[in-house]
Amino acid sequence: MHTWRVAISSFDMFKIGIGPSSSHTVGPMRAAATFTGGLVRDGLAQRTTRVQAQLFGSLGATGHGHGSKPAVVLGLEGALPESVDTHQAPVRTAEVERTRRIRLGSPEGPEIDFDPAEDLVMHRTRRLDFHTNGMVFTAWEGDQVLQERTFYSIGGGFVLEDDGSGSPRITRDTTRVPFDYRSGAELLAHCRDHRLRIPEVQMANELALGRTEQEVRDGLLRIWQVMDGCIAQGCATSGVLPGGLKVRRRAHRLYLDLTARSKQPPGPTDPLAAMDWLTLWALAVNEENAAGGRVVTAPTNGAAGIIPSVLKYVMTFMPGACDETVVDFLLTAGAIGGIYQQSASISGAEVGCQGEVGVAGSMASAGLCQVLGGSPQQVSNAAEIGLEHHLGLTCDPVGGLVQIPCIERNAMASVQAITAGRLALQGDGQQIVSLDQVIKTMMQTGADMKTKYKETARGGLAVNIVEC
Ligand code: SF4
Repeated sequence: MHTWRVAISSFDMFKIGIGPSSSHTVGPMRAAATFTGGLVRDGLAQRTTRVQAQLFGSLGATGHGHGSKPAVVLGLEGALPESVDTHQAPVRTAEVERTRRIRLGSPEGPEIDFDPAEDLVMHRTRRLDFHTNGMVFTAWEGDQVLQERTFYSIGGGFVLEDDGSGSPRITRDTTRVPFDYRSGAELLAHCRDHRLRIPEVQMANELALGRTEQEVRDGLLRIWQVMDGCIAQGCATSGVLPGGLKVRRRAHRLYLDLTARSKQPPGPTDPLAAMDWLTLWALAVNEENAAGGRVVTAPTNGAAGIIPSVLKYVMTFMPGACDETVVDFLLTAGAIGGIYQQSASISGAEVGCQGEVGVAGSMASAGLCQVLGGSPQQVSNAAEIGLEHHLGLTCDPVGGLVQIPCIERNAMASVQAITAGRLALQGDGQQIVSLDQVIKTMMQTGADMKTKYKETARGGLAVNIVEC
């Protein structure tokens, strides 16, 4: 397992992107765009007569259902996850399939033949050594190879490039931050030694990474705006999700029902109505994700509904919630997510769903506990509880689509995160199982987990549900 000691910014954990998968859609799109961008930069694009993309391991096995093919096609044309037009994307992908022509690096780039059926190879059973989500891109001029580059999509939209040795070139961020940490214990030590709350520690590091405090606040509020917009879009959209499973979107109907029930949304008369809203918001985000909509990775796309729904719950039902609440929540969730990203994994292909929904639940539990007034110890406890009860969770998406069990699973994990955050708040922060111990357990469990349960769609629900 690789690690790199770099203070992960909250903006690394929460990236505006496109559904349905951070590792299988966002990462491959970014890698493809990096490859053709390099051809343009090196003056090779005009000479290129053919490009080929090969996807290995989990990408090859479930890339069909995870949108990897269109992501690579769009990426080769220079599209980036944060700015790609999510409405035009399917139109352009269909056009490339029909014309078998592609433009390199940008919509104005040189046009060459490209048949996705032949030039985009999905290796269903082969994997590269370093990581299961491997990609090899090759450009030719006639029979001569102009350039070949290998990338790994390691989860959450992060992409690393192989340096030719069979493992990635890891860029070490040498920026000095005031509070360097990559474990729960180190984070708590900074809080204790400097009498700081977790969001204050994270804010200090964000400032050292080059943003002003105002830029950090504005950026986090923008993230929340996109999350909230995704919830609204999901609540407003009905129909059937793409991919062939014929999964009907439920959020819109549920939204209408809840609105009618509460007259003024949301004004609950039922004591558990808040839970219904929480469930709805998670479903809405993950349906949008499954439909290839605009989504914030939190920390991945498959688990993108948990943090927005819990934060929406806070903003809706917590008296006095304001912009400051959003900033504290996201800084805290980002700080916890950074520990997972630096010292463990947030990739379902590496450790199963415990690393996606489990980690998102942990981050959301911590964010909630923080804005409810939790001490650093209580917040750490919330993060631990938030993951502990997802240990062993496998990744077995039916049909290789990020729909079943993913969409409902986000709703269930959101409810659990509320419980975890509140439970931790009622304790004194003392815990028998520490956050670091549960993270280590997740990694060990992931290593013991059979490959078929790690985003290959070859085990669990994926093989027990007959596709029609
Ligand atoms: S089962 Fe979990 S890890 Fe697998 S695709 Fe769905 S959300 Fe992601």
